[in-house]
Amino acid sequence: MYDNIIKTYEFEHIKNKIKTINVTTDKRDLFLHIKLNPEKECCPFCNIANYVINEYVKSKITHSITITRKTYIIFYRRRYKCKTCNKTFYENDPFTDHKFRLSKLTIMNILDYLKDFNHSFTSAARYFNTSVNTVINLFDHYVKAERNKLPKVLCIDEVHIKSNIKYPYACILFDFHKSKIVDVLKTRRKEYLIRYFERFSISELDNVEYVVMDLWAPYKDVVRRFMPKAKIVADAFNVVTNINRILDKKRIQVMNYYLKLENENLNYSNDFGYLLKKFSWMIRHNKKNIKGRYLWIYKYKFSVYSMDLLEHLLSSNKELKEIYDLKHIYQDFNSYSNIETAEETLLDLIDRFRNHNIVEIREYGKTLNRWKKEIINSFTKYDGVRYSNGRLESTNRNIKTIIRNAFGVTNFERFRARVMYSINKNVSLNLRK
Ligand SMILES: [Zn+2]
Repeated sequence: MYDNIIKTYEFEHIKNKIKTINVTTDKRDLFLHIKLNPEKECCPFCNIANYVINEYVKSKITHSITITRKTYIIFYRRRYKCKTCNKTFYENDPFTDHKFRLSKLTIMNILDYLKDFNHSFTSAARYFNTSVNTVINLFDHYVKAERNKLPKVLCIDEVHIKSNIKYPYACILFDFHKSKIVDVLKTRRKEYLIRYFERFSISELDNVEYVVMDLWAPYKDVVRRFMPKAKIVADAFNVVTNINRILDKKRIQVMNYYLKLENENLNYSNDFGYLLKKFSWMIRHNKKNIKGRYLWIYKYKFSVYSMDLLEHLLSSNKELKEIYDLKHIYQDFNSYSNIETAEETLLDLIDRFRNHNIVEIREYGKTLNRWKKEIINSFTKYDGVRYSNGRLESTNRNIKTIIRNAFGVTNFERFRARVMYSINKNVSLNLRK
C-alpha cells in the first residue's frame, strides 16, 4: 500500500521489511516515519529468542535523495527486553551503516558525488544536507585508497602542494599506458623514496621496464637502486623547460638593466626595458608560433610585424640572442631526431654547450651530459607516441583543482585518498557486508 512512497524515496531494496510509512512535513522539511515488520532475532547476549518489546526508540536519519527539500527518516526502532537474561537490545537497522546518521543511500550518493574532482567536501555537505565534518568522516571511513601495482612504463612527477612547508612537493607515480595514478607520495625527497620502494617485492620492481622522470637526480638514484633493469627516460619537455628558464632569467636581467637606465636618465630614449617586459612571451614561445602577426604597441600607438619586433628585442643583448638561438637548436633536435639519430646529434650539442662562453649554457651542457642516456631513451616510441610525462599534465591540473577547492592540503593521507579516488575512479570502498 506504500508502493508510491517506497518508489519515490528509494526503499525498494527493503520493501518487504517495511510495515508502515507515514509522510509528514513541516515548513522546511519532510519526514518519513517508518516502522519495520518484526523479525525473529536472538538476544545478542544469551543467544536465545525469548523477548518482549520494551519500547520504540525514534532515530532520525538524513535521507538526501532529493535536493529540493531536506528529507529525514524517522525510524521507530524496537528495543527488546530479553526474558532470559533481562538485557535490552535493538532490532536491526537496515537504513544506516557504521556510526553515520545518514541513510546508506545518502552515503552512496555523497561518495558518488565526490568522484568528480571539481566537487569539494564543503559543496557535498551543502548539497546533501549534512555537515562538512560528516562528509570528511565518511570519506575517511569508506575510501581506502590502496596503491596500484607498478606498471611497465612508470611516470614520476611532482605536484606543488604548498601549504605543507616541510614537504612542498608531493610525488606522483603514474601508469603511462593506463593513464592512472599508481600512488601519491608525501615528498619527492630521496630518503623518503628509498623507504617507500624498500617495501616492494623484487619481482614487482623488476616488472618495470621504463621510468619517465624530470631531470631530478634523486629520482635517478632511487630508480637505479631499486629498478636496475628499468630504462630511465628523461621527460623531453622538462629538458626544454630547463633551457627556457635560462633564457627567461637572461631576459629579466637585460630588461632590468634597461629599466634602470630609463629611470635614471630622462633623456634615455631606448625602450628595450618596456618592450622586454610587455612582450616577454615572444622570447619564451617558439619562433614558429609567432610568425606572421602584427602586434599593437600601446605606448607608441602603432603596430609592428612580429618578426621585426622579435629581432629588435633580441638585438638588446648579444647573450640573450645566443641563448635564444641555442634553445631553438635544442628544440629542433628534440622535435626532429629519432632513436637512431639522437645520440650523434646530442653528443655534438653537448660538446657545443659545454664549451660555450656563457656559464649557464656550460652548466646546461653538463646537465645534458649527465642525462644523455636518458635523453636518448626519450625517443623511444610506443604506438607512435614518445614516452613522456605529457599524459600526466591533465592529471596534475585536476589535482590542483582538488587542492584549490580544499583551500590547501591539511591532511596528506586524506588528500592522497581524494586524488586517487576522484581521478582514478576505480577505488574500492570499504563497505560492511
Ligand atoms: Zn538474553
